[in-house]
Amino acid sequence: MARYTGPVCKLCRREGEKLFLKGYRCYTPKCCMERRNFAPGMHGKRRTKLSSYGEQLREKQKLKRTYGMLEKSFRLLFERANRQQGITGENLLRLLELRLDNVVYRSGFQPGRIPARMYVSHGHVSVNGRTVDIPSYTLRTGDVVVIRDKEKSRKAASESLKLTESRIIPSWLSVDKDAFKAVIEKLPERDEIDTPVNEQLIVELYSK
Ligand code: SF4
Repeated sequence: MARYTGPVCKLCRREGEKLFLKGYRCYTPKCCMERRNFAPGMHGKRRTKLSSYGEQLREKQKLKRTYGMLEKSFRLLFERANRQQGITGENLLRLLELRLDNVVYRSGFQPGRIPARMYVSHGHVSVNGRTVDIPSYTLRTGDVVVIRDKEKSRKAASESLKLTESRIIPSWLSVDKDAFKAVIEKLPERDEIDTPVNEQLIVELYSK
């Protein structure tokens, strides 16, 4: 599956906030946002007022980049959210949260979404007893995600769990760190998703 392979920290600098994409580095003073907290490029330090289209575009880019998606798959996910009952923006956030790589990240088994994506695609994770190596796999209520009982898989998860000890586990997810297991207890509601984005702007952008 296609994925973004360019410089990752530039994405955070462009959005003006930490997106925690890389993993371990994001939690250290080596993080680019600690040292160069301005947009990349020659005119990055200039402050520019965004048009309403610009604001919508930035929100869309921020959300897409936060979850490590490319335009085409993000657009398809939006259309899927639009077909569902309820509020499209909330449906979109819910679908993003229920991606397998995101759940591995939220559970603390990997320190960032990019490492989580790689971890899943390398076959370290099982869902309901079967190995799943598709990072975009959408989980459902009651699904059980377990780190496979292999030395390499569990060692990487243990290291990450130590690093992410203080991270708050969302209420829709229950995590048993000793058993390397996470369960989707319920579908996440909007107020249980802490992604700092105004999803309504994205709906407006795609409705044009
Ligand atoms: Fe973003 Fe992590 Fe790079 Fe910091 S180290 S700029 S949080 S990807």
